[in-house]
Amino acid sequence: MTYRGRFAPSPTGRLHFGSLVAALGSWLRARSEGGAWLVRIEDVDHVREVAGAREDILATLDAFGLVPDEPVIRQSGRDALYEEALAQLVSQDLAYACWCSRSDLMPFAGMHPRHCVAAPIPERTPAWRVRVPDETVCLDDQVRGRFCQSMRDEIGDFVVRRVDGAYSYQLAVVVDDSAQRISEVVRGADLLDSTPRQMLLQRMLKLPTPAYLHLPLALDAQGRKLSKHEQARTVDAGDPIPALRLAAAFLGQPVPPATSIDRFLRTAIDDFDISRIPRSTCGDAALRKD
Ligand code: GLU
Repeated sequence: MTYRGRFAPSPTGRLHFGSLVAALGSWLRARSEGGAWLVRIEDVDHVREVAGAREDILATLDAFGLVPDEPVIRQSGRDALYEEALAQLVSQDLAYACWCSRSDLMPFAGMHPRHCVAAPIPERTPAWRVRVPDETVCLDDQVRGRFCQSMRDEIGDFVVRRVDGAYSYQLAVVVDDSAQRISEVVRGADLLDSTPRQMLLQRMLKLPTPAYLHLPLALDAQGRKLSKHEQARTVDAGDPIPALRLAAAFLGQPVPPATSIDRFLRTAIDDFDISRIPRSTCGDAALRKD
């Protein structure tokens, strides 16, 4: 099978250093495998979307020379596919309507809200949850090794369609990774925790499970994840080389000389070696090692 990788940013702000690490890491992996690299805009959650962020992220990727091989897809407008997946789960009794409000669930810490199943409340719209099996789901991450999670004890029945009608990230990502025939998912380690849920959904929907490779997370000086809504460390589309060099160093790769973007990227592909990617989450110290 030919390698197909992807970068799937949510348009919640401008591209920050952590997203650049995921973009460069997934791009280098796809290129070094001679495969395709796709970009998908994960705008399934309209509430968190920031106007202009999608255009900004795509323009920044372009300025960095990270150009997708196929047209960019957006999750908005793909609801019919997510709806079909939910219907499939419901028809097999693997998902159910949950009429609990947040406060109803409070005593259960969000876990096992099955007591709400049989109690439709006319003035409410239900959320839809997956009925998780009493089972531990494990993956063998390409960088971090084995990671296991008990679906019932650590996750509980999770939402696949919210009360406001929005499909969840977990469902949309599984449908789209399959629709785009992604063979390996390369992304930040903050999503390692979501992977067993995604593998469970793949199995329930009879979809293939891709390989997974989780990259170290870029943290700020306080050890918090850098996220797009924090203004800190958004990358400068006008001056890509310094950020690309930092991102390559952060991924444990040799840092190509600061020549043109094209030459930088070509050298980075030739030198790319996944065994050099650090396993653990790295803080600012790693950013200064260049
Ligand atoms: N859209 C997610 C994010 O921006 C990434 C999802 C993924 O790579 O699976 O955090």
